[in-house]
Amino acid sequence: METIRVKDRDFAPFIDSPVIQEAVERVAAEIERDYKDKCPLFLVLLNGAFIFAADLLRCFRHPCNISFIKVASYSGTSSTQDVKVLIGLNEDLKGRHVVILEDIIDTGITMENILGQLAAQNPAEIRIATLLFKKDAFLKDFPIDYIGIQIPTDFIVGYGLDYDGFGRNQPHIYKITASKL
Ligand code: 5GP
Ligand code: MG
Repeated sequence: METIRVKDRDFAPFIDSPVIQEAVERVAAEIERDYKDKCPLFLVLLNGAFIFAADLLRCFRHPCNISFIKVASYSGTSSTQDVKVLIGLNEDLKGRHVVILEDIIDTGITMENILGQLAAQNPAEIRIATLLFKKDAFLKDFPIDYIGIQIPTDFIVGYGLDYDGFGRNQPHIYKITASKL
């Protein structure tokens, strides 16, 4: 694997595709063990989690539903804090066993916000599966039930994750280098 250029930055090889697949299959096996009789509703967080979800869900061999949601940021009028609103949720969550599929959890601010909005619909349970987790950046205390790979706080791209809209199609994961030319 070689260093790649994404838009205007260089990214160094970080996690090779077979290592990613191994983590995805392990998480899928954990979820399968816990949900084989529960008909879970998987909620895939777009855009970043689309490849993770596609690979993971092909390993889940029991009945389930799959839906896709997205977070839209609206700038609040009276504060500098962005208000994040879920869009695309057409499913009734009442009484459902929801499993959120996310690409990466960093500070946890996004996920905490999403959890609050989903919990308001009275699901039986909500669990979180994330491919990547930046443990040292995490500021919250909600449980993350399934974690693929813990990583340091560097910015990464590939396997669904982007840098300014580019890099999502890379099969491996790369981390940003200090160089800026
Ligand atoms: P949080 O709210 O947990 O700080 O951030 C979560 C979101 O930030 C993720 O869903 C993802 O979109 C973005 N993010 C956090 N770290 C990275 C990273 O290293 N690379 C990319 N491409 N996105 C990231
Ligand atoms: Mg994301």
